[in-house]
Amino acid sequence: MKKIINLILFIAILSTPWLHAQDDVLNPYEGNATSDPSENLITESYQIPSYNLYLQDWNNEYLKIKSLGISFGNNDDIKIILVESHNNAFAMPCDLYRITSKYGNRKGGMHTGIDLALAKGAPIRCCFDGVVRMAKEYSSYGKTVVVRHYNGLETVYAHLDSIYVQPNEMVRAGQLVGTAGNSGRASGVHLHFETRFLYEHFDPEKMIDFGSGDLISNILTIAKSELDFDTAPEAPATAQTPTPTPTPTPAPTTANNNAPATANNAPATTNPTPKPATQPAPNNTANNNNSGSVIHTVVSGDTLYGIARKYGTTVDKLLKLNNITEDSKLQLGQKIRVK
Ligand SMILES: [Zn+2]
Repeated sequence: MKKIINLILFIAILSTPWLHAQDDVLNPYEGNATSDPSENLITESYQIPSYNLYLQDWNNEYLKIKSLGISFGNNDDIKIILVESHNNAFAMPCDLYRITSKYGNRKGGMHTGIDLALAKGAPIRCCFDGVVRMAKEYSSYGKTVVVRHYNGLETVYAHLDSIYVQPNEMVRAGQLVGTAGNSGRASGVHLHFETRFLYEHFDPEKMIDFGSGDLISNILTIAKSELDFDTAPEAPATAQTPTPTPTPTPAPTTANNNAPATANNAPATTNPTPKPATQPAPNNTANNNNSGSVIHTVVSGDTLYGIARKYGTTVDKLLKLNNITEDSKLQLGQKIRVK
């Protein structure tokens, strides 16, 4: 089944490093054929979700291998379309739940997700279509599944009892990814559920109304200030002490100044102030000349004419906005500014 990926990202700032990226989409699995090719596994014909947005990082080992260092303006929001017409509808990660711990600072450290108490063995489902990036036992998270979705969001399902998917497997919204458990450092059976963008976590309740069991809006708006780009400790779940979790060794390709997620984080007790999850971005009327730009990610079959028509603009305007010529060959994953 060929998946058509049609990702539209509204980025409220122009100076993003991927905006002018012209490089090809590389497939790290190219030439790496498995002996048992399943049609559910990534092959060369499948695009890794948001591969260029993540600066060509796709790893099956670590929840957050590094901060990507993508520069957003101080006052800008990121707007992400959650479900498009060709996607399967959003699915709640689990059926019956009681919130036992919300996202944010709490005694013992920053809680990077939301805890939903469940019966052992309760089904855990993927929220959106995507590809499994991680499916493994992961330090204090226990058995963990991480799915990257086509809009660049990642969802994390931790403390599972069983895992039903494997890395690089394409999954659909609503698909069973595992069952609820208390693996890892969990005080009881619950799902520790995280939402992340560019590896940085944000409050799942910004996106999901856990009372009604639906998305709050089909357009998720995240303020830059709500993505803890450099400061967030990665203490998962029911961490009771500031004892650091086992530190993953950074992959050899990440030799830079960015510490791996769980390394050297400041003790969480130094900042007992609750994080204001819905704090409005101050002075957000500044720099409005930059807001409202719209970025289109090139997918298979795209043409300049088609993109122009889709966004109600003209090829000429696209050429000027992107400093390209009519002869320019569009490449999969290329970011085209359309407004
Ligand atoms: Zn938790």
